[in-house]
Amino acid sequence: MVKNITVLKGDGIGPEIVTQAIKVLDVVCEKYSHKFNYTEVDIGGCSIDKYGVPITEEGMAKCKAADSVLLGAVGGPKWDNVAPSVRPEKALLAVRSELGLFANLRPTKLFSQLADASPLKPSIVGNGIDLMIVRELTGGIYFGKRRTETVDGEKVATDEMTYSEHEIERIGRVAFESARKRGGRVASVDKANVLDSSRLWRAVMHKLAEEYSDVEYSDILVDNTAMQLIKNPSQFDVIVTENMFGDILSDEASMLTGSIGMMPSASLSEGTLGMYEPIHGSAPDIAGMDIANPIGTIMSAAMMLRYSFDMAEEADAIERAVNKALDDGYRTADIYKDGFKKVGCSEMGTIIASNI
Ligand code: NAD
Repeated sequence: MVKNITVLKGDGIGPEIVTQAIKVLDVVCEKYSHKFNYTEVDIGGCSIDKYGVPITEEGMAKCKAADSVLLGAVGGPKWDNVAPSVRPEKALLAVRSELGLFANLRPTKLFSQLADASPLKPSIVGNGIDLMIVRELTGGIYFGKRRTETVDGEKVATDEMTYSEHEIERIGRVAFESARKRGGRVASVDKANVLDSSRLWRAVMHKLAEEYSDVEYSDILVDNTAMQLIKNPSQFDVIVTENMFGDILSDEASMLTGSIGMMPSASLSEGTLGMYEPIHGSAPDIAGMDIANPIGTIMSAAMMLRYSFDMAEEADAIERAVNKALDDGYRTADIYKDGFKKVGCSEMGTIIASNI
């Protein structure tokens, strides 16, 4: 199969970690007789430096024309004080909205080899953590109307949270389909005891639950979910929720694994085009030192094969290769402990690629 991948390396550790993911993808191509064409586009601070904008129109067109987009990370102190209209993160929001990326998938997995990296007690994580948060990405309070006005002599600010049935249904379908390929369970998170948007959310999810009767369905309030993620995270398989609840819960969940450098994510459109990136930022404190953990980006590349290219076998091969590197005792600095073999970013990439 021939696939065209637009590569957004970005800033900080972005170029280092994306280079490792490409190293792994190249071996996958060789082994499974595919051809991946890579087109690099500047994004974030490096694009601001060259062109004065965080992504050019031409760059955006190359994202839209691709079969999928692989991203490192953007931003850093150098660009903290640029005008808000051209901040590095603006490019990410623009790509998400131009590509119609409405579904954000964040798997949270505690690798058994790293169980002691979790901040939770072994008695709690003993059963493992392997859950997927499906977050609605283009609706809700982030995209609702907002205003600040003066009422009776004081300032009053309002942010509207709006959801339509079709927006809820399409994210619900992503969650149910995902559960069918995983543990067969969906927990839908809302605040239906207070919010109208949540009551509509729940009604639409219930209809879908009837359609997907093979999937075990439950409703859970967002405040309870925040507690349950700490108390008993292994109860969850797929969690589906709206934009802001998902933003907060997915960061909480990612910390359960104790290692931000390991976590991938996928942002999907209604078609097969998606954007794949690790959940962490550009880590300017360790940029250029060849010590960043490339596993989150390599696992993001595996998600790209699984979700955009329908290459499940190849994705499994990458995940096995990562597991073998950990089994063999290789650790980057962020997950290193005495008794293991410390390797740099590039060496970790080479080891994983050679395990394919
Ligand atoms: P960060 O995720 O970049 O770093 C937080 C901490 O985790 C740092 O100590 C860093 O060294 C470490 N870390 C992150 N990724 C790592 C990896 N792969 N291996 C080893 N250690 C790793 O968050 P931050 O410091 O708050 O943000 C830095 C910059 O990144 C900011 O400009 C921020 O706006 C940007 N950012 C970008 C994205 C994105 O591009 N999607 C996401 C979050 C933050």
